[in-house]
Amino acid sequence: MPEDPLPESLDVLAVAPHPDDLEILCGGTLAKLVKQGYRVGIFDLTSGEPTPRGTLETRKKEAEEARRILNVPVRVNVELPNRVLMDGPEARFALATQFRRYRPGIIIVAAGRTPAASPDHLQGGLIGEAARFYSQLTKWDERFAGTAPYRVPHLVYAPFPFDAEQRHWHSQFVVDISDTIDQKIASVRAYESQFDAARFAKVEHLIRSTNGYHGGRCGYMYGELFALPTPVGAPDLVSVVSGSKGVLAPPQIPGRDHPPMG
Ligand SMILES: [Zn+2]
Repeated sequence: MPEDPLPESLDVLAVAPHPDDLEILCGGTLAKLVKQGYRVGIFDLTSGEPTPRGTLETRKKEAEEARRILNVPVRVNVELPNRVLMDGPEARFALATQFRRYRPGIIIVAAGRTPAASPDHLQGGLIGEAARFYSQLTKWDERFAGTAPYRVPHLVYAPFPFDAEQRHWHSQFVVDISDTIDQKIASVRAYESQFDAARFAKVEHLIRSTNGYHGGRCGYMYGELFALPTPVGAPDLVSVVSGSKGVLAPPQIPGRDHPPMG
């Protein structure tokens, strides 16, 4: 039996190695999902410490402040080791246990190889993919704190900026975050131990230019880039191409009083 009663399930569970990764990668989308009424959780694989100017205590406070700014209701630290984060059985068990407890409909996994930054980033993406697979496995409940198998239906990648293999991301798409860019920037500013004034100015510039570029390609002021591990499946070409806006009049089918889409 599980040690604790299961928490309320999540619509979207986002996971990355360090507190501040998800804010920078997809904070605008997380805030937007919350506004849309989805139940969202942020999962940090490590504390992010040690760092030159941070402490465990300050980093925890900053992560909580960032959570509050994004209005995300759930933030969990998986307590794997920072700096030496490695994909391996124990890390997979630890994250899969969280998937089995929170039973998300979608996981967003920060992913990509960042040769000029922490190697934890690549490992975190591998752990996320593997934990999704492990989460569904039967006859292994003792490795997952007694939780029941759970199959995560959907995996989405949030690629790191400057990912060395960005060209290989399949099925890229961009979410319009024009309405939540300020929330996103404020959530990153919460990490004062990581970004002093001079450093924050650079990070804000990087975020605005990256999200401005991705958004601009799709006609938005700001956007965040995501990718899928598979091609996009489409029952309907028009809805994929035009989103919910629709570019064509609904088809008129003889003998029907009203178009099928209502
Ligand atoms: Zn990081």
